[in-house]
Amino acid sequence: MKLPVYFDNHATTPVDQRVVDTMLPFFTEQFGNSASKHAFGWEAEAAVHQARKNVGSLIGAAPKEIIFTSGATESDNLAIKGVAELYRDRGDHIITCAAEHKAVLDCCKFLERHGYRVTYLPVDAYGTVNLDKLRAAIDDKTLLISIMAANNEVGTVQPLTEIGRIAGERGVLFHTDATQAVGKMPIDVAACGIHLLSMTAHKLHGPKGIGALYVSARKPRVRLSPTIHGGGHEGGMRSGTLNVPGIVGFGKACELARAGMAAELPHVTSLRDRLETGLFAQLDELHLNGHPTERLCGNLNVAFGYVEGESLIMGLNDVAVSSGSTCTSAALEPSHVLKAMGLREDLAHGSIRFGLGRFNTEEEVDYVVRRVEEEVTRLRGLSPLYGKRPAGARPAAATAGK
Ligand SMILES: *Cc1c(COP(=O)(O)O)cnc(C)c1O
Repeated sequence: MKLPVYFDNHATTPVDQRVVDTMLPFFTEQFGNSASKHAFGWEAEAAVHQARKNVGSLIGAAPKEIIFTSGATESDNLAIKGVAELYRDRGDHIITCAAEHKAVLDCCKFLERHGYRVTYLPVDAYGTVNLDKLRAAIDDKTLLISIMAANNEVGTVQPLTEIGRIAGERGVLFHTDATQAVGKMPIDVAACGIHLLSMTAHKLHGPKGIGALYVSARKPRVRLSPTIHGGGHEGGMRSGTLNVPGIVGFGKACELARAGMAAELPHVTSLRDRLETGLFAQLDELHLNGHPTERLCGNLNVAFGYVEGESLIMGLNDVAVSSGSTCTSAALEPSHVLKAMGLREDLAHGSIRFGLGRFNTEEEVDYVVRRVEEEVTRLRGLSPLYGKRPAGARPAAATAGK
């Protein structure tokens, strides 16, 4: 087993060697600009078309419905700002949710400064949006619902089919940031009534700096104002010379994800379950964050009572994981997702996100269980509160759904 162990696959994933091998010729012999009208250009254009097919196939989209971008952040910007601007004469209202990725939330805040109205739906203790609240939030000026497919911190999967049905019934466009879900669970844009979908290659063992936005071309055909203007690439929706090696790698990553999903999902799920079972068997005062069942296969987010997440991460110097806090200037802010779920602040600060993926092993899981147990026990030994905790007490909502 190689150290450090990488359990942070929600942040990024290692590029699959088969993806690297597919990309390499496109830096050298096949370096053409896919817009050029000669042999070098045609070769690049053919490779881009094949990739567009592979990316589309993974989510049930046609090749012409895939717009390549620099990643999910750009896709979110293009979807939300692009719809808001193009359909401005039809409405001014957008619905999203409090647990979204910052790329979505900050686009919405930007639009609020430009005169749009935004409804931030709350989430329940599991991180799930409430469909009745969604229905009630829609008015006749609502342009877009933007709700993520699966949460990047707690892994909670949203009821996409129901959201898509509601959007369809009310004639509202439905955008989903599916960055964490694509390749980790089956997603079909038509079956879920999704009109716009953001994704990125580096979360599914592809390269960084390349992503896509799916834009529905069928009932309804969605149009967008571009955020990047120029030579009219990607149907005028996203100008700029295409990142051919990146696109080829993204295509390969999607092809591998689709072909391997039937084997990979149970593999990653069983590793995650082994980690969860191991930790809960070894330690008390743990709380599972996120939905107990409607959750990404590789996600485990746990609040360790009486422990500072940052101290735990520091102690786990040979294990790569993320905490439930973000460092803003000087203070530690609890994650906006855990806050939106109503988790107590001390528990949010004691939360750790484990993200398992394709290349993790049982041996690594067992090692991490041992290391976490060691560190949590050591830190609790230093905590005066842990020694004085009420007998039989459990953190609020602890072991919910377990
Ligand atoms: C990682 C992530 C993003 C950002 O993707 P980039 O390609 O790095 O811009 C957006 N949304 C979610 C849900 C993510 O997990």
